Amino acid sequence: MARPIDIVSLYPKDMNIYGDSGNVLTIERRLALYGYEPRVHAVNQRDPWPDHADLILGGGGQDTCQKKIIDDLYARADTLRALADDGVPMLMICGLYQLFGDYFETVDGARLEGISIIGAHTVGRDVRMIGNLVEHSDDFGDVIGYENHSGQTFLSDGVRPFGTVAHDGMGNNGEDHTEGARVHNVIGTYMHGSLLPKNPAISDFLIRAAVERRYGGFRPESAPAQREELSRIDRIAQRAREVARLRPR
Ligand code: GLN
Repeated sequence: MARPIDIVSLYPKDMNIYGDSGNVLTIERRLALYGYEPRVHAVNQRDPWPDHADLILGGGGQDTCQKKIIDDLYARADTLRALADDGVPMLMICGLYQLFGDYFETVDGARLEGISIIGAHTVGRDVRMIGNLVEHSDDFGDVIGYENHSGQTFLSDGVRPFGTVAHDGMGNNGEDHTEGARVHNVIGTYMHGSLLPKNPAISDFLIRAAVERRYGGFRPESAPAQREELSRIDRIAQRAREVARLRPR
């Protein structure tokens, strides 16, 4: 019996750099291995919103691309806010993380209002923060990814960071050791990489939240070959994590 899960890939044409589309592929593959039927809906500017949205994934993009999609994002802001309030899991990387905040002042002085799902604001600087990044998250243990941004993000009082930067990473702003933010089941983060292939625990959190919300419980139905494939994938992820960890910056 098919058990569809509808995944929205937000702005894959304009907001998709440093491998962010790998997050969509990872969720799609993993859901199928758990015995669910992933349905990916690419939502670019002016595209219709799908009837169901169980899980929403958005990537990064440079300032020019952020300016390009911003009006379309405003048009969808009420929908996204309602879904976030209702517990829909979302993963927003870098450029879309910034626009899920309250505002982003670009380095050339433009001000882009955000959609305020995450209490945070971002200020563009002329220094870029680039490199592999390891952070500690209370929910997911060590999270391993790659950051490349010039915006410095500051969380509002009471907003929970996604993680705490270890070693010499920069994270949200290079000053307070916070990285990303977590509001309801919404994760905002600077972690590219792609993030999810290297962090199966985060994939499983997003999947579980999506499935529980839609079906009332997470009941994987994996054949032995699928279980074997999941453990093979997790072993590869583990090796990728070890390599990235050894090459900090
Ligand atoms: N334009 C933003 C910055 O540089 C976001 C970049 C990104 O998504 N990688 O801060």
